Amino acid sequence: MDNQAVNILMVDDRQENLIALEAVLHSPHYNLIRAYSGEEALKWVLRLDFAAILLDVQMPGLDGFETAKLIRARGKSRDIPILFITALSQTHDHVMHGYSVGAIDYIFKPFHPLVLKSKVAEFVKIYQNQQQIQMQKELLKKRAEELEVAYSQLRRSEALARAIGESSIDTLITMDASGEIYTVNPGVRNMFGYVEEEISNQNIAKLLPIFQTDEISNFPKSMIIEVEARRKDGSLFPAEVQVSQVTVEEEVIFVCSIRDITERKIQYHLLECLVEERTQELKQSEDKYRQLVEESPEIIIVRKLHSDICSFINKTGLNLLGAERMDQIIGKSVFDWIHPEDHTYASTMMEDLRLGKEIDVVEERWVRLDGTVIDVELKTIPTEYQGEPAIYVFARDITEWKKSQEILQQSEKLSVVGELAAGIAHEIRNPLTSLRGFVQLLDLEGGFGKEYGHIMLSEIDRINMIVSELLLLAKPKKMDFQEHELKLMLDSIITLLNAQANLHGVEIVAYYSDTTTHYPVVCEENKLKQVFINILKNAIEAMPDGGQVRVEVDRLENDVSIAFIDQGNGIPSEQLSLIGQPFYTTKDKGTGLGLMVSHSIIQNHQGKLKISSEVGKGTLVEVVLPTTKVEKVGK
Ligand code: ADP
Ligand code: MG
Repeated sequence: MDNQAVNILMVDDRQENLIALEAVLHSPHYNLIRAYSGEEALKWVLRLDFAAILLDVQMPGLDGFETAKLIRARGKSRDIPILFITALSQTHDHVMHGYSVGAIDYIFKPFHPLVLKSKVAEFVKIYQNQQQIQMQKELLKKRAEELEVAYSQLRRSEALARAIGESSIDTLITMDASGEIYTVNPGVRNMFGYVEEEISNQNIAKLLPIFQTDEISNFPKSMIIEVEARRKDGSLFPAEVQVSQVTVEEEVIFVCSIRDITERKIQYHLLECLVEERTQELKQSEDKYRQLVEESPEIIIVRKLHSDICSFINKTGLNLLGAERMDQIIGKSVFDWIHPEDHTYASTMMEDLRLGKEIDVVEERWVRLDGTVIDVELKTIPTEYQGEPAIYVFARDITEWKKSQEILQQSEKLSVVGELAAGIAHEIRNPLTSLRGFVQLLDLEGGFGKEYGHIMLSEIDRINMIVSELLLLAKPKKMDFQEHELKLMLDSIITLLNAQANLHGVEIVAYYSDTTTHYPVVCEENKLKQVFINILKNAIEAMPDGGQVRVEVDRLENDVSIAFIDQGNGIPSEQLSLIGQPFYTTKDKGTGLGLMVSHSIIQNHQGKLKISSEVGKGTLVEVVLPTTKVEKVGK
């Protein structure tokens, strides 16, 4: 504003006069504008704002007075000070006329330059003041508007705050530093039993006894603190209190919110009791569980999944392994007591467990601390131990059971051998008869014919084979898994049993799906033979009127299937489920052990034995055995 030049309009029809005025008023603060007529002056006034107008009175066309009238008539230019410059008359009437059309002053020619200069300066100052006032007015207006907005916002937030305060179930208090209460919301009624007026101007210590001793200004600010609160009736309750501090018009005010937490405390307490109860329960069941594990008649071992170290063993386990102290077993590798021959098998099983495979019940041999070997049956279950994946090993000593099983199998075998003996006797007697005949002939003719010698030799071979097969079967042999050719085994069994079969008019015929292939099976030869004999014997016994037993051997993907098909009387379906149970027999002289023993032997060979039958038509017994080598076959 100060550094901006103000406009001054000079109006005169004579150029010399204008030049003279310019010379007098020349200043960097003025922007001097010439007009040569009243009309031109009016045009300028429309265009610009002027601090002052110097107006010649005598002009052709619009004279000074008329021009002034028109300037005054326009609202925007009404207040521009007009200074008449005249050479004519200083008469009172003339001057008055000038004033009546809005002149501010008169200057009479010839004018004094300094007087003119100072008069104009005066007008400019007035103009500038007016400008400033105008500006301030505008500023004031703007401020007032802003204030209005701020005020309405304030009123709104105040109303909201009040709404919150009045509807809040918390008690909200404003107070001074000494604790004297200014305001309190209706929350105080329910919580403390006071009405607002009753407690206003009272000290907060009445509600919160803590402030009887503690200074409010020392109370931690903006933190939720649990304290005791006191109702009007003197009763106490737990409360959460938050004190904050605000400055309003240079006065420090404390705002305190109080929340009744009785209900929450009760909930917490209940929860705590519940947790305590549960923990107690859990501990009890844990104790029970521990006792169960400790005293279990089963051997229980825990080992971490990724280690072979024993982490835990129960008493039964210790006893079984012949240890006296835990440290003889715990912390040691389980391979310390797994039989060396079963290490590979145990490792494979461990690997399967790590891969998440489920492991069935298996058998293993363990070596006790005193060196004796025992048979155990194991079941492994994944678990967690000390926060790590682990496995439970449940083990049972089956040494005795194995022994009795062995005896059972052996006795069954002997009874079979006994039964077979009848047929064999017959079979031996036959070749002997012919041998005897030939020998007699030889006696008579005094020498051997070539033909006779040949027959004799083959008959003697036959006796030899049957007798040695019988001996082989009868003799208990050490358990030994080896690869054997199935075809050879079946052929020799069929030869052996044909003796018995012939007695009953039964014929046994073997069919191989492929005569050129071999059928290698890893097995205990004698045991497997025992199975085949049992099945064939049953088949023969099922055909009292004779018939044929077909033995069909077929190679499957990884297995070989041996089907024994007879044309016997079959098995009624209600009996089918009973077959294979110990001592279940429908025969007068039966033992009811043949199929049971066969089942257990086939199972030990990781094979399957299935029976299907149709009454009056015949029975099919199928044995499926793996042909590929197995790592180890449980015994
Ligand atoms: P056993 O031959 O001493 O009776 P097994 O266990 O060998 O004992 O057989 C049990 C029963 O199963 C037999 O008594 C018989 O009833 C039935 N059985 C077994 N095989 C056959 C078969 N091929 N045909 C009909 N019944 C059979
Ligand atoms: Mg039998």
